Amino acid sequence: MELTESGRLVLAVFSFILGSMVGSFLNVCVHRIPQGLSVVKPRSRCPKCETPIAWYDNLPMLSWLILGAKCRKCGLPISWQYPLVEAITGALFLAVYWRFGLVAATPIYMAFVASMVLVTFVDLTDWTIPNEVTFPGIPIGVALAVAGLYFPESGLLLGGPIEAMIAGFAGGAFLYLLDKAALLLLGKRGMGFGDVKLIAMVGTFFGYKGVIVTIIIACFAGSIIGIAMILLTPKKEGEESAGHYLPFGPYLAAGAVLHLFFGPQLVELYLSTLTPAI
Ligand SMILES: [Zn+2]
Repeated sequence: MELTESGRLVLAVFSFILGSMVGSFLNVCVHRIPQGLSVVKPRSRCPKCETPIAWYDNLPMLSWLILGAKCRKCGLPISWQYPLVEAITGALFLAVYWRFGLVAATPIYMAFVASMVLVTFVDLTDWTIPNEVTFPGIPIGVALAVAGLYFPESGLLLGGPIEAMIAGFAGGAFLYLLDKAALLLLGKRGMGFGDVKLIAMVGTFFGYKGVIVTIIIACFAGSIIGIAMILLTPKKEGEESAGHYLPFGPYLAAGAVLHLFFGPQLVELYLSTLTPAI
């Protein structure tokens, strides 16, 4: 659909606001899903004084700033993680709209980036990857690949249902074997089975290119940040690192999101660095 410049701007602003509101809901999910609680009921309340949070104190990012990062009633500090999740989700929704425009793919990929934000923050805080994302995510990816055959104008980045299934399985199998190899060679777990399900979901959504780009980005970013953290974290006496869990989900999620926005360019860049110019 053709839009005027101002129409595009209004939709861009709307995308950001929608994303930050979804981010506000994701904060609830990040907090409650690991505890097995309902994400719908009860309404959000202060964990200390248990005052239900009024809508005007629950505006994405703004309320946190206005309230000075404190509960209005009891002054309990509110983590900066809340506005951060809202800002990231808002920015990603805006980016999805900017990249895809007004097509069927846009709301689908908004839901996808939201699920990646959820995966990232649950893995960072709870060291798990929620099955609430990957269990529906894998069949939804396959269903989209089927739907893509009938709706070529959807704007979806798809390879086809057979590729989606093979890529999902192969991606999962690769990370599973990598995990087993790490256990065998280094004597410690590289990652959890949640990462296996997550890359399988990425495979069903984006095909084999998506899997390759995501794994390369995740390993690259993971090793740089992992090494930096080992160097920067002071060693504590008596602390053994063998059982330490390194969250890999955030890197996979970041890789998948980067593939969503820059996939073809990244593949081209990678191939051009492998093939010397003649
Ligand atoms: Zn309070």
